[in-house]
Amino acid sequence: MVDYPKTISTVVFTSKCNFDCAYCHNPSLKTAQPATHSEAAILEYLARRHKQIDALVISGGEPSLRAEEIIGFCHRLKTALPNLLIKVDTNGSNPLFLQEGRDVFDYVAMDVKSLHYDRFSTTPFDTILQSLDLLDSYPRHEVRVTVYPPYLPETDFEELGRLLKDKRVRHVTLQQYRPVDDIPPYPAETLHTFATLLQTLGLETSLRT
Ligand code: SF4
Repeated sequence: MVDYPKTISTVVFTSKCNFDCAYCHNPSLKTAQPATHSEAAILEYLARRHKQIDALVISGGEPSLRAEEIIGFCHRLKTALPNLLIKVDTNGSNPLFLQEGRDVFDYVAMDVKSLHYDRFSTTPFDTILQSLDLLDSYPRHEVRVTVYPPYLPETDFEELGRLLKDKRVRHVTLQQYRPVDDIPPYPAETLHTFATLLQTLGLETSLRT
């Protein structure tokens, strides 16, 4: 119910990521790991539980690094289980993944981490903007912002908010970062101030503190 809001879902994780976020919530998946489940096993699991499970969430790591494989898998899933909803989580580094996944993804959650991607990746910011442009073509989407002070200084809040509004983002989730180093998170009031700013700009916003 957490990964696909208000929907009972099961989550599969793909390994390997092209970013190096300091606060990564799945550090063991930053590098390629041996597969633990085959496509056939996932299909069989979902088919067996199709009365209980309404959605599949594909998270990572970064799923878009395996774009072709995942989109093909999702097409096969939709053929076998047409009522199953599919959501993907992505860091936005592969706009083609979002362009070609439009026929099969029901919901996309994209991270927008900063206005300064050179702090943790080699992906040009223009690429992130191209991915943001594609979100509007999805019936359901969400931009998730982990508010990590070194990547998102308070002085960037307004510019980021205006950018998301210009890109016609419909829902933003602000999430507090869980400390993994000696950098303290912003106080809750700062996150509330940021959320209010986004709401004032007309963006539907939720907050995970
Ligand atoms: S994009 Fe996600 S999986 Fe990759 S390093 Fe950042 S937090 Fe971790």
